[in-house]
Amino acid sequence: MARSKPRNPPLRVLVTAGPTREHVDPVRFFSNESSGRMGFALAEAAARAGHAVTLVAGPVELPTPARVRRVDVESAREMLAACRRAFRGADVLVMAAAVADWRPARVLPGKWRAKDGGARRATLALVRNPDILSTLAARKGRRIVCGFALETGAGERRARGKLARKGLDCIVLNDASALNSERTRVLLLGRDGSRTGLAGSKARVARELMRKLERMARP
Ligand code: C5P
Repeated sequence: MARSKPRNPPLRVLVTAGPTREHVDPVRFFSNESSGRMGFALAEAAARAGHAVTLVAGPVELPTPARVRRVDVESAREMLAACRRAFRGADVLVMAAAVADWRPARVLPGKWRAKDGGARRATLALVRNPDILSTLAARKGRRIVCGFALETGAGERRARGKLARKGLDCIVLNDASALNSERTRVLLLGRDGSRTGLAGSKARVARELMRKLERMARP
């Protein structure tokens, strides 16, 4: 597929995608249903528009889009470390990853065994993961920072709350039906109060979102 010439100098775009995986022991972990498709579609759209793209991906089974530099990570803390490095040289951050809020307080060195005839109940202590978006947005300077929100109720109000609390330029409110689907329906909410609905294949919505982000980064 031919690469279209960017109208302006290329942007350096950092995209995150997929779930994170938080280990309990060497063979078990917490994770979530994120397929990574939206983030990969965004990375592909940005690369096709001629931008320099780094894609920090949690564990997903998706091919790397052409001309995209991919960094694979597992846990939220690994994702934060990879994002910190790439953010220094980025103009735009799009945080489409579904980052686990919690991780086990301790990763057991060997397999967690349910002993025969043992207790019927177990408790797992969790600790809070760092918020990658808030951490990076606090030092964003002139960069454009875009978050994602997947809500099951009072979506717009919650997403606007996150936009303000995390210090973002915009947030993409996702419909829960988009999980693991090829199609999606989103609402792009801007810090300036703007509100744009986009629907279609994830590839199409990704192209539209990239165009909006380009305009924010190069007003
Ligand atoms: O999980 P939550 O709804 O707060 O996610 C909103 C945004 O914050 C998403 O863009 C997600 O990638 C980001 N996030 C993050 N670090 C976390 C949790 C969420 O960057 N620990």
